[in-house]
Amino acid sequence: MDCDKCGEDAVMHAAYSGLHLCADHFCRSVETRVRRRVREDDLLPDDATPEDPETWLIGLSGGKDSVVLTEILHDTFAKDPRVELVTLTIHEGIEGYRDESLEACVELTDELDVRHEVVSYEEEFDLRMDDVVEDDPENMAACAYCGVFRRDLLSTYAEEYDADKLLTGHNLDDEAQTAMMNFLEGDVEQMAKHFDASLGAFEAGGETPARVRGADGPFVPRAKPLRDVPEKEVALYAQLRDLPAHITECPHSSEAYRGEIQQLLFDLEDRHPGARHSIISGYEELARMAADRYRDGDGPDLGECERCGAATTRDHCRKCALVEAVHAAD
Ligand code: SF4
Ligand SMILES: [Zn+2]
Ligand SMILES: [Zn+2]
Repeated sequence: MDCDKCGEDAVMHAAYSGLHLCADHFCRSVETRVRRRVREDDLLPDDATPEDPETWLIGLSGGKDSVVLTEILHDTFAKDPRVELVTLTIHEGIEGYRDESLEACVELTDELDVRHEVVSYEEEFDLRMDDVVEDDPENMAACAYCGVFRRDLLSTYAEEYDADKLLTGHNLDDEAQTAMMNFLEGDVEQMAKHFDASLGAFEAGGETPARVRGADGPFVPRAKPLRDVPEKEVALYAQLRDLPAHITECPHSSEAYRGEIQQLLFDLEDRHPGARHSIISGYEELARMAADRYRDGDGPDLGECERCGAATTRDHCRKCALVEAVHAAD
């Protein structure tokens, strides 16, 4: 098949758009979607200046999504003095997994000359995920612990580096899965939180973004500039651009329900191209309405964790409680 734009050999066919694209036009279309999302979400406020730039902290795991996000944002903003990029890799302490993806992160950030920071559960919390899985004091899936620890470090370091926004590499498939899971669990409040945490536009030029953080949301607002790009296309982009992405799965990956939803969406998309896009657009509209409704209340009373100072509704935040439970089980 030939590229619909230039007649060269096509490397991909997107059933949802009907387009056949060559390597060059495909890569450009991915970049265009990311830049359009940055623009439509008003990620870069009008009052950002070279003297007072916006700092974006990118969660860089070394997997294809965050690698592609870093590469495209760097291409777009490297010469723009209004934006500063900082990348952060979190080492969970998972043997044979994070060490290799950390190498990919170092290779990428060295090549792009982007600031790169690394923090570990071991240094921060005196624990490793491999040991957490072994002890499992709360009888939970590995990702339930890991997600709490990761969110805590992302928020802590976003504040530490004075980041204006925290960017993650969630793609279209990730977002469609989250949307479906929230629908199927009937969790409208979770939809509202999801919207407040990472969907909708920022208010350009304002002091505060046009969102209210959810009770357990981070105080540095989040954004997902890759969320219009399907996972397969992110992978193809990484391959065509020869980016150093690490693809092995985490040995503790335990999100069985998400896996089921993923399969369901694959089948649906196969039979009805464009299904993910329409799920997401309907979901965003509903989530926006839910966020407006739940925001009407006063919200929960947020205090400070007695141990670490993080915002929480309890004496101790969830992260401190889990760290304590893990240490007690040692
Ligand atoms: S798959 Fe689960 S345990 Fe592994 S790194 Fe991700 S959140 Fe942590
Ligand atoms: Zn072409
Ligand atoms: Zn705490």
